[in-house]
Amino acid sequence: MKRKVGTTCIHGEESKTKGEHFGAISYPIYQTATFAHPGVGQSTGYDYSRMQNPTREQLEKTVAALEEGAFGFAFSSGMAAIATMMELFQPGQHLLIDSDLYGGSIRLFEHISKKNGLQITALDFCQDDVVSHIQENTVALYVETPTNPMMNITDLKKISEIAKKHKLLLLVDNTFLSPYFQNPLSFGADVVIHSGTKYLGGHNDTLAGFLVVNEEKIAEQIRFLMKTTGAALAPMDSWLILRGIKTLAIRMEKAQENAIFLSKWLGEQSQIRKVLYPGLPEHKGHEIMKKQSRGFGAMVSFEVDSKETAFFILEKVQLIQYAESLGGVETLITYPITQTHADVPKALQEKNGITDCLLRLSVGIEDISDLIQDLGQVFWQLEQR
Ligand SMILES: *Cc1c(COP(=O)(O)O)cnc(C)c1O
Repeated sequence: MKRKVGTTCIHGEESKTKGEHFGAISYPIYQTATFAHPGVGQSTGYDYSRMQNPTREQLEKTVAALEEGAFGFAFSSGMAAIATMMELFQPGQHLLIDSDLYGGSIRLFEHISKKNGLQITALDFCQDDVVSHIQENTVALYVETPTNPMMNITDLKKISEIAKKHKLLLLVDNTFLSPYFQNPLSFGADVVIHSGTKYLGGHNDTLAGFLVVNEEKIAEQIRFLMKTTGAALAPMDSWLILRGIKTLAIRMEKAQENAIFLSKWLGEQSQIRKVLYPGLPEHKGHEIMKKQSRGFGAMVSFEVDSKETAFFILEKVQLIQYAESLGGVETLITYPITQTHADVPKALQEKNGITDCLLRLSVGIEDISDLIQDLGQVFWQLEQR
């Protein structure tokens, strides 16, 4: 019987034979850069840790299993994974990217990919006509769903049909939902990307990134790029992410439960103009998401009535920390316009709705009453101004 995702989080892909590694329950950390050969022309299967390392491999197999993919690759950060992936393309080729993406990804495409001769067009995948933007030299589509920070939802099945029809690779950054809630490969994506720094690690203590694919040919190319450019994840960090994944299921459930409660509570505050959370039935991507995800995640963006209100909230939260990043057990509040999305070109910021009134919450797993208490004291003070 096929295991459920929550069990895979704890037991990995587990092809473990009894007694292997002296029966260690926690996978050992092979803290070594190199491996001795038993004889000339012989190998234990491991030569040098940039290419293969048993701890990293255990993590790669686990993440691949969680994403229902055949091959997983662990990088030193999410950006290292994406930068390596972009080496799959040649100068002169064209990619269509969603205009609302993680700011670092947009910076990479704008400043590195373009310099390397790639052509990039940004469009709104859930509103614009994607097909009409496909050119003769278009080779790939790049999306996040939900998007960061506007929480737009792309219909994965529809977009993958377009990709298949036009022979394009579909690249999906699945960081916001984690493999616990969504598996884009099952909807026809060719490469799934993760910042493992976020939900997979889950504790705001380790950087990591992943690529997961089904096709042997793409896997082979990524393996070559990885050993050649060298952004592989270190053994100790691989182990930390493996440990984080063990509690992925229970963390995602609790964070989502908190996010659902908080998004409704935020909607009742008079200083809040709009709450962007796809778990709310009135969210325009709600129905699509029900078809392609097992949950709505725990990222909640909201728009307040003024820049002053936004600043006030950032300064007055006590339990909730004003910090970049997401996906950890701690609830964090972010100001996209000066933090995560500061490097997004101004025109694009405006087009997407990233204004100085927009805030983003990564809802953690604290007791909900303490989160409400913290936000409650902020909004009470706002009333008193
Ligand atoms: C954080 C993030 C990244 C980049 O990952 P790092 O681990 O910070 O390098 C990429 N995509 C999304 C959606 C992210 O949130």
